[in-house]
Amino acid sequence: TMDPIGHHIQAFAHSQGEKPALTDEKGRLTWAEMLSRANRIANRLRDDGLQTGDTVAGLSENSNDYMCLYLGTLIAGGCMVPLSGMASGEALALMVDDCDSRFLFVSEKNLPLFTEIRDQLSRVEPAQRIGIDTRDVDSGLDLDAWLGDIGDEPNPAEVTPDDPFNIIYSSGTTGTPKGILHDYRFRQRQFERLARYGLDGDAINLVSTPLYSNTTLVSALPTLFHGGTLVLMGKFNARRFLELAEEHRVTHAMLVPVQYSRIMAEPDFDRFDLSSFKLKLCTSAPLRSDVIAEAMERWPGNIREVYGLTEGGISTSLDCAANPTKWDSVGVPTEGSEVRIIDDNGNELPQGEIGEIVGRAISMMRGYYHREQQTNEMLWTSPEGHVFYRSGDMGRLDEDGFLYILDRRKDMIISGGFNIYAVDLEKVLLEHPAVADVAVIGIPSEHWGETPLGLVVRKAGETATEEDILTFANKKLGKTQRLAGVEFRDELPRSTIGKVLKRELREPYWADQK
Ligand code: ATP
Repeated sequence: TMDPIGHHIQAFAHSQGEKPALTDEKGRLTWAEMLSRANRIANRLRDDGLQTGDTVAGLSENSNDYMCLYLGTLIAGGCMVPLSGMASGEALALMVDDCDSRFLFVSEKNLPLFTEIRDQLSRVEPAQRIGIDTRDVDSGLDLDAWLGDIGDEPNPAEVTPDDPFNIIYSSGTTGTPKGILHDYRFRQRQFERLARYGLDGDAINLVSTPLYSNTTLVSALPTLFHGGTLVLMGKFNARRFLELAEEHRVTHAMLVPVQYSRIMAEPDFDRFDLSSFKLKLCTSAPLRSDVIAEAMERWPGNIREVYGLTEGGISTSLDCAANPTKWDSVGVPTEGSEVRIIDDNGNELPQGEIGEIVGRAISMMRGYYHREQQTNEMLWTSPEGHVFYRSGDMGRLDEDGFLYILDRRKDMIISGGFNIYAVDLEKVLLEHPAVADVAVIGIPSEHWGETPLGLVVRKAGETATEEDILTFANKKLGKTQRLAGVEFRDELPRSTIGKVLKRELREPYWADQK
């Protein structure tokens, strides 16, 4: 049995109606106020013909109203589709059509993008293009005007574990965006897991990554499910993060690795009172052990690093305080998950060997929306007949069952027949005192087919030369791993949730190879 979020949270209106539920830069909503608004949105969606399982698309930065729209959609039994304001107009128009939504909600900040796509939308009628905090949309309505005088009585829809909960479009670092469909069962399991990590009704969670990313949702939605409080940032800024954390006595945050570095690089980081922190989560890209070490020392509370895919099916986690010698790993499979390593032919490899990570877990996506074939391509069947998901990541398991990620399969460098994993080279480059950030990519080589190149961002004020760093690294690297060169960059291109865009870095080097 399950108690869907739209049902479950109604009780908080009575038990803690005056407690803050949502805070953004514009104001604060108590639990009673948030539920009233979300219930009105749900009632209005139902009046407009929304049926259980229907999709509702939103294009907005994090805000109280956007969160209310999310909850309202769920209360109405709808399936939320949070879209990325960082996508290209072309990709975005495809997503809005692909997800079959009859509704599109847009915030003022996203109007330029909306204007770009408005003539390409074939499924959303102009009357159902509704502004969140703006009326400059085809309906001429913002959220308040659209809600009109609709009542706020709670009418949560009956849903089953198989009903769709949300669709998240993959960020597109690997090509055309695919809609990843999660059901209620999937989310329910996350709510339970986060409770085991200590997230409860007293949690005050500072949300500084966008709501269109699963990274955010895995901690933001459980916080509300358990009756906690969200503090929402529309746009991340390290200093503002620290101010909000102190002001709101924040206990939890989900941060991607680059945010840890930026926050701790704030000159007066140590002057902020962060003693309220209990747990920081991290996912989406490798969290370097030197960053973990610094955060464990300077930033109160534990860190839990999580490895997984938006698709689900593969999930490990590392409790940093409990495992001080395993910070290079992404931990062990979470309860109900199993991880194995396979070779190119799909044969399972013995412990310690490097291959593609596959996994199965109690929570997996229902599939890519409308893309059965691509869903099937992700699957691997074990000799006992169990279905696993392929991660596309290369890794290995140590003797204690901890998982180490080496590279994305498609980022792996094959040089003279040897596999080179960027992470090994990146680690060595980072040992150089002048190096702040690094990405290793494969570039064409006549002799080796492909050869590794180090792209390095120096720390401010450092004067080490490219040659210095190359010599330093190559002395420590194995013969087959040696870097062909080092080049300086001012910064590395990253996706909106902080993944280094290696494809983008590689492109110029391979352009005249095709
Ligand atoms: P796309 O597949 O289009 O690039 P995406 O990057 O948004 O989409 P996600 O599902 O967000 O896809 O990311 C999953 C990938 O992120 C994993 O396959 C892995 O490469 C990387 N990743 C996630 N967590 C970690 C972690 N803790 N350490 C290292 N890598 C991680």
